Amino acid sequence: METYTGKSILKGIAIGRILFYSKEEQVVQRRSVQDVDAEKDRYEQAKETAVRQLNELYEKALKEVGEVNAAIFEVHAMMLEDEDFNDSILNMIEGQKVNAEYAVAATGDNFSQMFAQMEDEYFQARSADIKDIAERVVRILQGRSGVDTLGEEPVILAAKDLAPSETVQMDKSKLLGFVTELGSSNSHTAILARTMNIPALIGIPVGEDLNGKMAVIDGNKGELIVDPDKVVLEEYRGRQEEQRRQRELLQELKGKEDITLDGKHIKLFANIGSVGDIAKVLENDADGIGLFRSEFLYLEKQDYPTEEEQFQAYRSALEMMAGRKVVIRTLDIGADKQADYFQLDHEENPAMGYRAIRICLDRPEVFKTQLRALLRASAYGNLAIMYPMIISVDEVRKIKRIVASIQAEFDAGEIPYGKIEQGIMIETPAAVMISRELAEEVDFFSIGTNDLTQYTLAIDRQNAKLDNIYDSHHPAVLRMIQMTVENGHKGGCWVGICGELGADTSLTEDFLKMGVDELSVSPAQVLPIRKIIRNTRLL
Ligand code: PEP
Ligand code: MG
Repeated sequence: METYTGKSILKGIAIGRILFYSKEEQVVQRRSVQDVDAEKDRYEQAKETAVRQLNELYEKALKEVGEVNAAIFEVHAMMLEDEDFNDSILNMIEGQKVNAEYAVAATGDNFSQMFAQMEDEYFQARSADIKDIAERVVRILQGRSGVDTLGEEPVILAAKDLAPSETVQMDKSKLLGFVTELGSSNSHTAILARTMNIPALIGIPVGEDLNGKMAVIDGNKGELIVDPDKVVLEEYRGRQEEQRRQRELLQELKGKEDITLDGKHIKLFANIGSVGDIAKVLENDADGIGLFRSEFLYLEKQDYPTEEEQFQAYRSALEMMAGRKVVIRTLDIGADKQADYFQLDHEENPAMGYRAIRICLDRPEVFKTQLRALLRASAYGNLAIMYPMIISVDEVRKIKRIVASIQAEFDAGEIPYGKIEQGIMIETPAAVMISRELAEEVDFFSIGTNDLTQYTLAIDRQNAKLDNIYDSHHPAVLRMIQMTVENGHKGGCWVGICGELGADTSLTEDFLKMGVDELSVSPAQVLPIRKIIRNTRLL
């Protein structure tokens, strides 16, 4: 039995086997083989497994994100059946007497280069797909797992580091928890762990040697216990059971109003990263969605999601929430959230760099595609659109002009759209200081305490070394929140908090007393916060 201490991202206990995930570049070696037929069989079997995985991913995506978004897995499965692709692999195994891994990787490289050189943009984009499917087959041949194929049994995932784009692709039903060596507690990977409500630790030294071992994550103490003995295992099973009982007690709050003892109604909403998270929102009985981080839709893909793909996702969210408010934040890409196809330059100081609304205003075609999808979806529910990283009134006016021009186009083309609210994230000190003027421009403010803390304290939220002084309770941050609420109200806006601090139960009463109208938290935090709201007296 061995115990490692790290930092906890989410309290809670997970018990299970560890799966070590390494995203190191695939190393494929060329080997000569004697039994060519056996090698061809190995390939055929790996291909069958890949097709089965892709079909499963298709079915899952179909339920979670709709047909248009799921289609990519169907396309991948079809590409795997392509005759030229298969012939090339089988001929190489037979002609050159080489191992299947090598034949697949070499064919994948050839085909993907061929596609990259084509004139047509559609075929160029397929180059990444070919690479993807070849990597999947090689992975299967090498007996390794990808983030989207964690195996049959749920596992504790151990990795050096996890990017948000990897975390978002994981099959959440197969994850008991995760531990990483790198990362900070305010990174988006950590935020996703909270949304998924799975115990997670950072700062744990992980390596291949952990693979397959039994372990316990103790999210209360920040410990990973590897190979626990019988007594320890029993003790943790007992604690896990106790936690389940505590959660069950909260169930009686479902269906109850979010109202203080003296009658103030609070909007208690949930944060999500994808349509797939809505099941958790409904299960935990949130009144709406206060932050849909739309950029995860972009991070899951190899190319820009089309207007139609986005429309389908937003429409599904609105329909599933059946009239309850859904606040969708426009693309907040950049900094730790990177997608290759955006071709963003490497920056020395990415948190303060080319990101979020700055990219959208600079690349209007990308922004307009998203806004058109949002406005079309607005006909199907109660939509609010929110803009990230605002620092000036001028930015807000520019955005509103673009939205109005699309609405005018829709009027002319008789494309239906609904009534929307427009709001901004208050996550820069600049926005706080001019919040009185900004409040005249929009319907609501949502305070992003993750970035607001980072920019107020000048502490990079990604920097694990500074995690211990990244203090969202700092009086400077709390006064900024107070100021934003007061100025928002003077200008007729409702004001919420959607950063992680909104879920901090030690501050709920203070926030309510400051006049905060809305709290948007990870789905699992909804009922604990409801309990506090219902026990709070404001006067
Ligand atoms: C925030 O900054 O508080 C926020 C909610 O946005 P994100 O964490 O996605 O940057
Ligand atoms: Mg932010």
